[in-house]
Amino acid sequence: MTTFRCAMGRRFAALLVGGLFCAGALAAAGHEHLNPEAASGRMARAAAYASHYMASTANPWATRAAADILARGGAAADAAIAAQMVLNLVEPQSSGIGGGAFIVAFDPRDGGVLTYDGRETAPAAARAGRFLRAGEPMDFHEAVNSGRSVGVPGVLRALWRLHQAQGRLPWAELFQPAIHLARAGFPVSPRLHALLAGDRDLPRQAAAARYFYGPDGRPWPVGHVLRNPALADTLARIAREGPDAFYEGPIARDIVAAVAAHPVPGDLSLEDLRDYRALERAPVCMPYRVYRLCGAPPPSSGPLAVLQILGILAHTPIARAAPESPQAAHWFAEAGRLAYADRDAYVADPAFVEVPVAGMLDPAYLAARAALIRPGRSMGRAEAGVPPAAPPRPGAGRGLEPPSTTQVSIIDAWGGAVSMTSSIEGAFGSKLLVRGFLLNNQLTDFSFLAQDARGRPIANRVEAGKRPRSSMAPMLALRDGRVALAIGSPGGSAIINYVAQTLVGVFDWGLGLQQAIDLPHVGSRNQATELEAGTPAEALAGPLRALGHEVRVGEFPSGLQGVQRLPDGRLLGAADPRREGLALGG
Ligand code: GLU
Repeated sequence: MTTFRCAMGRRFAALLVGGLFCAGALAAAGHEHLNPEAASGRMARAAAYASHYMASTANPWATRAAADILARGGAAADAAIAAQMVLNLVEPQSSGIGGGAFIVAFDPRDGGVLTYDGRETAPAAARAGRFLRAGEPMDFHEAVNSGRSVGVPGVLRALWRLHQAQGRLPWAELFQPAIHLARAGFPVSPRLHALLAGDRDLPRQAAAARYFYGPDGRPWPVGHVLRNPALADTLARIAREGPDAFYEGPIARDIVAAVAAHPVPGDLSLEDLRDYRALERAPVCMPYRVYRLCGAPPPSSGPLAVLQILGILAHTPIARAAPESPQAAHWFAEAGRLAYADRDAYVADPAFVEVPVAGMLDPAYLAARAALIRPGRSMGRAEAGVPPAAPPRPGAGRGLEPPSTTQVSIIDAWGGAVSMTSSIEGAFGSKLLVRGFLLNNQLTDFSFLAQDARGRPIANRVEAGKRPRSSMAPMLALRDGRVALAIGSPGGSAIINYVAQTLVGVFDWGLGLQQAIDLPHVGSRNQATELEAGTPAEALAGPLRALGHEVRVGEFPSGLQGVQRLPDGRLLGAADPRREGLALGG
């Protein structure tokens, strides 16, 4: 028997197998999240503490599966796989085997950090005009809800590589919690219910309508026990046969058929699936104070932009400013503008464009960028800089990224760690449900336009076989050869600001991880300065306007999940109060 402390602050003595732990937390969290996108009404989370291992995910069932695996001697890699499969079931709007992921993993045996790129690829048939109509970008919503948005899923091959490198328990064992829960059923959560109720497109897809809605066409209510035998069968097969059972054979054929059968068909082929490769890449890293921060490199723009923000802020007095002060918001937003300007211009799939990663993190370059910030006046919009060794500047491409996605952060008993951000892109992805899982709409993360107004090619334009640029920012902070922090978040392009703000909170302001996650969100994506509605950040609007900021108040439903190693060696797990997450350790 092991004692866990739920993020809700209750103590439970729970049997490792079959126990119903944190049920109280589950139920309590439920009623606070009836409007899942509302920042107001969020429930305060207490951090969880443990001595050996800790997992934090966006859903209590997934966290429990991860904690069980860790308790059985599994590595962080094993626990991440178990959590991902359960998330596919219980948080189907956000991630799953029909989508992609970026994984950052620390191997305690050699102290190395590796990343696994399971980002979706564009089919071989994809062409530049994919999301254009008469030369103009098509309506985003129309692009999402079509077969054209579906990229080749990458999650399973990325997790397979991770498991081959760092797994301790057998692959098949890691699928059992999800298979059991899919057969037994899980209670529909308030967040899932609200997203089902608010979705106009999901019920229009026959397979999804049959699964997610009752015979009367209404979304299953909160607490309804939803079973997914089709997913259980799919996962059982992948458990037995490995990921090839997904990328070839009947599952692959059904994926291709579903994409082709959409009223606006896509062009994903059997060959695209068979040929998909998850890539092992060196992380992008930067020293910051006493830490070394590492994250997934391009095609994600996330960690690179987070590191730029921190590298720029190191030249400002933000560490001495009060966390929720107008001065702190000013410095943070201005650094954000500069980082997002570079991101928009330079970052895309490195197999297709030259991304000047080293130049973008060059200390002299970051110092020069920081010098553009004026203490008393906003710069408005930042221009991309010219980092050392930058290629001729491409056109800037922006994309809409409505929030979905999920974060898994784990530290295991050997000091191994995984930070994984996983996504099917928008809520419920393309809405195409195949054998119990949803297919992504990740290709709408490409720039719809191929060139900018001046005719310069946009780095993140659609090309065959290319990976769309991401904002996902799974990160690890290392200190003295050990993982000090695992962090990440969903939230579309705002992920960068969420993660950067949390790191500033912990490393510059000395806040506890939970407090840092709880901070009202502020930041700029090189447009208006954004303030989180329903929080004290709203009061910053006046002072920031006085500094020349254009201000926008809105919902910022981050889903930060983190695990921190405290100076005394204990592990602290934290979960974002804006979603349904939970941290558990042992
Ligand atoms: N598709 C987005 C990305 O890869 C993530 C979407 C989200 O976080 O909701 O950056």
